[in-house]
Amino acid sequence: NDPLERIDPEIASALRAELDRQEGTLEMIASENFAPVAVMAAQGSVATNKYAEGYPARRYYGGCENIDTIEQLAIDRLRELFGAAYANVQPHSGAQANMAAYFALLEHGDTVLGLDLAHGGHLTHGMRKNFSGRDFNVVPYHVDDDGLVDLDEVGRLADEHRPRMIIAGWSAYPRQLDFEAFREIADRVGAYLMVDMAHFAGLVAAGLHPSPVPHAHVVTSTTHKTLGGPRGGIILTNDAAIAKRIDSAVFPGLQGGPLEHVIAAKAVAFRLAALPEFAERQLRTLSGARIVAERLGRADVADAGVRVLSGGTDVHLLLVSLIDAELDGRRAEDLLHRIGITVNRNSVPNDPRPPLVTSGLRIGTPALATRGFDDDAFAEVAELIASVLRRTEHDDAELDALRARVIALAARFPLYAESGVVSGS
Ligand code: PLP
Repeated sequence: NDPLERIDPEIASALRAELDRQEGTLEMIASENFAPVAVMAAQGSVATNKYAEGYPARRYYGGCENIDTIEQLAIDRLRELFGAAYANVQPHSGAQANMAAYFALLEHGDTVLGLDLAHGGHLTHGMRKNFSGRDFNVVPYHVDDDGLVDLDEVGRLADEHRPRMIIAGWSAYPRQLDFEAFREIADRVGAYLMVDMAHFAGLVAAGLHPSPVPHAHVVTSTTHKTLGGPRGGIILTNDAAIAKRIDSAVFPGLQGGPLEHVIAAKAVAFRLAALPEFAERQLRTLSGARIVAERLGRADVADAGVRVLSGGTDVHLLLVSLIDAELDGRRAEDLLHRIGITVNRNSVPNDPRPPLVTSGLRIGTPALATRGFDDDAFAEVAELIASVLRRTEHDDAELDALRARVIALAARFPLYAESGVVSGS
C-alpha cells in the first residue's frame, strides 16, 4: 500500500532499480554521496507545499511561522558549523549560489580570475558557454607541471588584468589551496576573493581541511558532496554589507520561492555534520583516497602509463592521467562500470584526447566512506581498480571475476540497511 507504487508504478519501479544500482555498485564519483534517511525524510515533507518568498520574519506570504523556524535553524546551524557571521541557505544549487555571488559583487562585464575548466575548475568559474564566461570577462589560471595551482601565475594575471573578483575552488583537484595567499593577491589588486568549497566543505566542517571562511569575502558551496546533505547550495560571509547584497541577489535577484523542504533537509544535514561520527567518516574518506592513490601509483599500474596527478592527494579525490596509457578515459570509465565501480572520466591538463573521450579519471571516496568503508575495504577497491587499469586487454571471464568481487564487497556494506551507517544517522 505504498502510495507511489499504487499511483505511479513506472516511477516507483525506476526508483527501485536506482536503489538496486546504488546498493550493488561502488560509487566513486567524487561529487556524489548518500543522503541519510533523516535528510530524505525532511526533503520528502510537507514543507514542499509552502511558498515563503523573502527571509525568516520578512516574508511576502502568510502562514510562514513554521517555515521560519526551519529556515532559521538551517541558518544558525550553518553559521555555527563553519564559524561564519552570515549565511544564506536558499540557493537551489551550487551553480545558483555562485551566480548569486557574481551578481552580488560584480557588474556585467567585470573581470574575474578562475581556475581553467580543463585544469580542474568548475563550469561556473568561467566556462565559455556558462553565464560566468558569457557575462563576465574571465581570465583563467592554471596548474603547473606538477599539477599544483600556480600561485605565481595567479599573482601575475591579477597584476596584469586587475580583476574585480578572484575565485579559489575546484571540481577536480587533489590538493589544498592556500586561501591566505589568494587573499593577499586579492587585496593587492583590490579584488574580492570568492572561495567555492563545494567539493571539500565536508572536510572543512570536520576540521580536516583549512577553512576559507576567515579569508574569503564570500564562500559558496553545495550541500550534497562531501557535506552529505540534500542537493542544494549555500553562501557564507563575515561581512554585513556583502551579506545584504547576497540576500538580495538570491531573492529577488535570481530565485522566487525557496525550496523549504530542501532547506529543512539542509538543516538536518548541518546538525549531522557537527557530530563526531561525521568527522570520523571524513577521516575514512581521506584515508581511502590516499590508499587508492598509493595503490595506483605502484609500478605495475605505472608501467601501463597510468599516472596519479600531483603524486597523491590530500582531499577526498585523486586524478589519474592516462595521457601515456593505451587506455583512454572513456574506455577506463566503461571498464570500471562493467565491473560495478562508478567513476567519471575527466580531462587532464594538456589532454590530447577530445573532451568526450579524455585522458583522465576522477576517483572519489566520500560515498564509500558514508557506506562504512574502512582502510581494508578501500585497499580491496584500490586493488580492483588497479586490476583494470594496469592491463590493455580485458577478457570477459576476468571482468566477471572482478564484478563478483565488487558484488561481495558491496554486500559487506549495506546501504540504507537497519544497521547501515547511512540509516543510523
Ligand atoms: N562548484 C563546484 C566546485 C562544483 O564542483 C559544482 C558541481 O559539480 C558546483 C559548483 C555546482 O553545483 P550544482 O551541480 O549543485 O549546481
